Amino acid sequence: MTSLTPTRIDFTALRQALHRAPELSGAEVKTAALIADLLRGWGYQVTERVGGHGVVGTLTKGASPRSIGLRADIDALPIAEATGLPFASQTPGVMHACGHDGHTAILLAAAERLAQEPFDGTLTLIFQPAEEIGAGAKAMIADGLFTRFPIDVIYGLHSWPGLPEGHWGILPGPVMAGVDKIDLTVRGKGGHGAAPHETVDPIVAISHAIAALQSVVARNIDPQEAAVVTVGSIHGGEASNVIPETVEAKLTLRHFSTQTRDVLEARVPALLRGVIAGFGAEADFTYQRGFPPVLNHAEPAKRALAAARAMGQPLIEGFRPRTASEDFAFYLAERPGAFLILGAGEGAPLHSPRFAFNDALIAPAAALWTRLALDHLKDTP
Ligand code: MN
Repeated sequence: MTSLTPTRIDFTALRQALHRAPELSGAEVKTAALIADLLRGWGYQVTERVGGHGVVGTLTKGASPRSIGLRADIDALPIAEATGLPFASQTPGVMHACGHDGHTAILLAAAERLAQEPFDGTLTLIFQPAEEIGAGAKAMIADGLFTRFPIDVIYGLHSWPGLPEGHWGILPGPVMAGVDKIDLTVRGKGGHGAAPHETVDPIVAISHAIAALQSVVARNIDPQEAAVVTVGSIHGGEASNVIPETVEAKLTLRHFSTQTRDVLEARVPALLRGVIAGFGAEADFTYQRGFPPVLNHAEPAKRALAAARAMGQPLIEGFRPRTASEDFAFYLAERPGAFLILGAGEGAPLHSPRFAFNDALIAPAAALWTRLALDHLKDTP
């Protein structure tokens, strides 16, 4: 990573260098240092350690108070890479499997280009750590992102395998889901598998509860709204002839509106509690609110659409919101802005050990960032 010279950057090589040296959420030390060095080399005012290893670069030209924020996430995942690429991760068990190396390279490419362009106002580039653990955006905001740096409007993007390469998904309103989490422990009374009448079987209780759960989506949520209830983990028991004391499960809940979340938050625990109690067992759980949905504001979404169209960059036909989540949602609660999805073409999905970021996206995405920034910071008022 350090062999790169700060002038005449090949951003594909830079992206691959980032890929080779991924750092987990909260440990983005070298990544942040590299970003800070590059930005300084291009004349940006750089602030490090904003909300952890976050880096903010600002560049002001002219006297206009106008400003725009562009954000990239910079962290990697605890996944053992299986791409076999020549620039695969050299850190065992850690991988850029969500393309944050690509998002970083895209924003750096735009940074280099924008440093050379005339504009009137302040460009604020946000390199956010710890997206994957849902902590980075909140931490940067708590550390004064919106009070210490001028950001009238904020944009972010995510590349997306399985959507047409180089095509944008840009929507006003919901674009990614909100997510909540339940950790559940069902307490019964353990005993011999041959004498179930002397026990309270938590496995039977949770089985009925899980089967009943889908009725929340089918029977409590407005059929015109989307919601997901997934039990992603269930653990209980060790042996065929032992009824365990407890069973543990983990659930993820997805929604696109406050109303839907309120229904999930009310109905899912009530149903779990009721069904499990019906079997004589007890349900202990914590309901944790995670990210709100990513709700794009109308005007910034319109500007992004117009920029893509003006540059001849194609749009995804019939693009619909994703049910994954993003902590970019927290920024949109503070400022107007939009989160854009960029199709990456065929390939392994995000968070797969075989995911490979499509480097062909760097140039067009950086061009769109550049255009959007210049559009907001036009040097004629
Ligand atoms: Mn991601």
